[in-house]
Amino acid sequence: MCDIIWCKKEINGKKCNTVNYLDPYCFWNWEGKVNCAECKTVYYIHMIQGFMYRGPEEVNEKPDTSPLYADKPLEGYKNYLPGIEGRTRPYQCLPRDIYLGVADMVKFSARGRPVRGWRPQPPSAGIAGSFGFDWDIQKLTPEVWEEYQQKLAKGEVSDW
Ligand SMILES: [Zn+2]
Repeated sequence: MCDIIWCKKEINGKKCNTVNYLDPYCFWNWEGKVNCAECKTVYYIHMIQGFMYRGPEEVNEKPDTSPLYADKPLEGYKNYLPGIEGRTRPYQCLPRDIYLGVADMVKFSARGRPVRGWRPQPPSAGIAGSFGFDWDIQKLTPEVWEEYQQKLAKGEVSDW
């Protein structure tokens, strides 16, 4: 759910009638100036918890940001999609840079016990195979087994 600024600015005797969408994440608790995507009139708004506390009031200043999207419902929903310079903001719903789409390989659980997800699985496991309850870690991944023995010796393995 997001609030809107329905721009009624009259330009050349015709109302702008553009609906500027104030997408909630950016404007939920926000004070500043935002432009109309069509006529570029700048409005001051102050939103608190998604509620329009003050504004929109027309101001003669530069906008701080733009709406993400705008359309004109009285003209067949002619619209401005995200990322039009000077009108709408680019859509930047990107994951944080630590999320590169590569799984972390984990050898041990939080309790210090070996997990079966550690690769490589031997060819005898078959395609996408696993050894079910018969996971011979000592034979299949001797280096993890070795590390596990060290963890046991250091008391880094627990039941809870
Ligand atoms: Zn306008």
